[in-house]
Amino acid sequence: MFSAKVGDDCYGDDFSTNKLEQYCKDYFQVEDCIFLTSGTLSNQLAIKSITNPGDEIISHSLYHINFFESSQTSALCNVTLNLCEDDDGFLTKNRIEKALNKKARSPYYAKPKLVWIENSVAATGGKVYEISNLIEISNYCKNNNLHLHLDGARLFNASIASNLSVNQFANLVNSFSICFSKGLGAPFGSMLLGEKEFIDKARKYKKWFGGALHQSGILASSALYGLKNNFSRINKDHAKAKTFAESISKLPLVEVNNPETNIVIFSTKHININSYNFVEKAKDYGLLFFPWTKDSVRVTFHLEISDQMLIIAILKFKELWAEILKLKDNKSVNRHISNY
Ligand SMILES: *Cc1c(COP(=O)(O)O)cnc(C)c1O
Repeated sequence: MFSAKVGDDCYGDDFSTNKLEQYCKDYFQVEDCIFLTSGTLSNQLAIKSITNPGDEIISHSLYHINFFESSQTSALCNVTLNLCEDDDGFLTKNRIEKALNKKARSPYYAKPKLVWIENSVAATGGKVYEISNLIEISNYCKNNNLHLHLDGARLFNASIASNLSVNQFANLVNSFSICFSKGLGAPFGSMLLGEKEFIDKARKYKKWFGGALHQSGILASSALYGLKNNFSRINKDHAKAKTFAESISKLPLVEVNNPETNIVIFSTKHININSYNFVEKAKDYGLLFFPWTKDSVRVTFHLEISDQMLIIAILKFKELWAEILKLKDNKSVNRHISNY
């Protein structure tokens, strides 16, 4: 990053940004792509570039565009979300068809334009789509004139976990995004990829939304480093998540997922404490967790977590859990109303 060759991306002459975009075009075999500050911007630009105000998106309530971005999606893009709710977090051809058919359709009403998937699915603890399911969805969308977009912020995790190349997933969709700041370990950044006409629109809206940068090469160089060097090591994060989940699953009253990738999600509802208070308490033990919903906590493993840190984390978790079990019947744990 320190020695990155830069220019001005607003004029299209930032050397390192152009190099990263060219590398991604070749690597993912797409017509065009655009380097962005975040996965969230990538999502909003994708929606804005594909839809017209009033159009409908078919997706899942657990996906990032709804779970975190429903306000942006409605306020910036003026579209409506038609969401599946199935607990496993996946769309299927049948579920899309059901969502399509549950409303009146005619030229006067909401026009379904876009089917939006996510892989891996962050909210279900990083579960990965079956490729056979994706092939069916892809064919269905083609036959029904629906644009299929993949939020691939965690696509590298999905690829490693399923032993399929990222392109085997990406080839099935009309457009997709990746994140450099998740498994790849760069400080930030995302790439939106697809056909030239789509990316041309995204380039315009990138300016509109204030996402155009000047000497972005500093960041692009770190993103390229992540892509070249940190992809193949992601299996180490998956192994750590598995070890952590298995170790804590043996404790009393623990309900935890069986992680396919690098995300562990466990429940706090059986131990009389909400997730926000649990996460605060965990800090006393040196454990940094994320309150996912009121009753569930997320733990992610990434390249900064060493083998030794994992061992300590498991030990500290056991101590923390024991303390909370002691407090379980003492309602004071939840006395402080959280700000969340
Ligand atoms: C993290 C994430 C995003 C958003 O990326 P940011 O760079 O944090 O804005 C979008 N989608 C999914 C599935 C994610 O995991």
